[in-house]
Amino acid sequence: MRYTSLVEVYEDLAETPATLEKRSRLSILFESADPPLLKMLVRLVRGKVFAPWESVEIGVSSALATKAIARSTGIDSDTLEGWWRQEGDLGSAAAKAVNKRVQRTFDSKPLTVTRVYHTIRETADYTGAGSQQRQINTIAGLISDATAKEAQYVVRTIAGSMRIGVGEGLIRDALASAFATESQADIEAVQSAYDVTNDFSIIADRLISDGIEGLSALDIQLFRPVKPMLAQKAESIPSAHTDLQNGSGQTLAEIKYDGVRAKIHVDGESQRVFTRRLTEITAQFPDVISAVNSHITADKCIIEAEIVGYDPDTGDPVTFQKLSRRIKRKHNVAEMTSQIPVSVYLFDILYLDGQSMLDAPLSRRCHVLESIVDSSPPDIDRAQSLQTNSVDQLKSFYADAVASGHEGIMLKNLDQPYQPGSRVGYQRKVKPMMEPLDLVVTRAKWSEGRKSEYLGRPYLGCRGTDGTFYEVGRMHTGFTDAELAEFHSQIEPLITEVDGREADVRPEVVIEVEYEEIQQSSKYDSGYALRFPRFKQLRPDLDASQIDSLHRIEQLYESQE
Ligand code: AMP
Repeated sequence: MRYTSLVEVYEDLAETPATLEKRSRLSILFESADPPLLKMLVRLVRGKVFAPWESVEIGVSSALATKAIARSTGIDSDTLEGWWRQEGDLGSAAAKAVNKRVQRTFDSKPLTVTRVYHTIRETADYTGAGSQQRQINTIAGLISDATAKEAQYVVRTIAGSMRIGVGEGLIRDALASAFATESQADIEAVQSAYDVTNDFSIIADRLISDGIEGLSALDIQLFRPVKPMLAQKAESIPSAHTDLQNGSGQTLAEIKYDGVRAKIHVDGESQRVFTRRLTEITAQFPDVISAVNSHITADKCIIEAEIVGYDPDTGDPVTFQKLSRRIKRKHNVAEMTSQIPVSVYLFDILYLDGQSMLDAPLSRRCHVLESIVDSSPPDIDRAQSLQTNSVDQLKSFYADAVASGHEGIMLKNLDQPYQPGSRVGYQRKVKPMMEPLDLVVTRAKWSEGRKSEYLGRPYLGCRGTDGTFYEVGRMHTGFTDAELAEFHSQIEPLITEVDGREADVRPEVVIEVEYEEIQQSSKYDSGYALRFPRFKQLRPDLDASQIDSLHRIEQLYESQE
């Protein structure tokens, strides 16, 4: 298939906001593709060339892509960056560059879908000296042969943002429609297959070979992690208990540990560890592997745990932020391992000896998990838990958890199965909320994707004693569309300087922010960073002299310990 034909589909999809039309456009595309092509298309329409669990990512950053566009069109990087800012999208800047191309290639070969897909995949394999140059050359090669529109989508694929309004749900529905029907039952069959594979490529393959009935044979598999089941916030312990109790009135409470959520896959001698975002972290945690080797008695299993770091001198847990240094570390892992040793707290099992455990009720999963762990604290242990029908006992379990420095507790329904990737409400988290802070916006970045012409993503500053502002973090989410528009209209007139996709602003707009925790951080000049800051409201009634002070943040930080 010529890439230009796929680009036509992209353009149609971008133009129509109507879901049904989008679905039928995609369904026609899928129906007419042969098996190898279909496997690529279901990824490409989401701007992906790898499965999430492949442990590889497109190796080309936006900065490298800009160099590649410059190389293949002769337009200099500064001009490109200006266009990028204007258009809000590097892909559109690439299209403009190709239209104004200074250099022309006379022996250009038309792009095919296969070539684009494999060439972008290939760039992830380049490592070591000269790899960046090779990546630039490879992408420049594609752009040299591309029309303006093709270049736009090649670059968007590299950036992972297609801006054509295609989400997982739409691909699911289009596949059902192309290979079965649009009935609820068929859509659910595709969704269930997606829950356990996380990859529409595998589903497409199966649909072509065995039709919709063939999907039921797809199941959770070793070394192909599924998304974690997510918890909702509990309104209160009594209401969560009312919602979650099983037939005999019991709820399971567990300590909520503050670490890294991990799925540990064990197949005899080989083990691999994945994060909640399905990134592989096996190499960074040899101590987890050795604890699993010594204390898990099952031959094949997928277990879920929180990995928590502790101070080797005092035994006290370390912050998530400190532990996350181990995730990023690629070299001298052994040294890091002794500086920040970890405990593994197991809380679920998804698979055992060839059998999926996803449909088993939590009570059974807990029982099975218990039977395959030979606990050996502090290296590996079951998450501390309490099964009870007494609200008072749940409350005192929570009070003890918080008093001994834990984040809070998880409340779980013992009767329910494991539902990958969804916040279905079988589990609730209970933790103290920090009081909101009033902070001033010091800088802001333009949003990405659909809202790219809006300044969102504000950097937040608190007040120092010397009249200057010290940043304590950056907000990523929390705006509704209307709030974003309002925020943008207030911030834009205050811009003092623009650098790429970021603007310095006069510190005048005050917002009230919620967050989960304060951490020490060298990233911001205050020395602190808010964890998960969320927009609560604009505070037009406050000016910057009335915002929270650095001293207050220090006090709050101390009070968390
Ligand atoms: P949150 O990240 O605030 O949405 O809380 C959910 C997270 O709590 C999970 O993703 C796990 O990483 C973590 N967690 C800690 N202890 C447990 C536990 N006992 N059961 C389930 N999740 C836990």
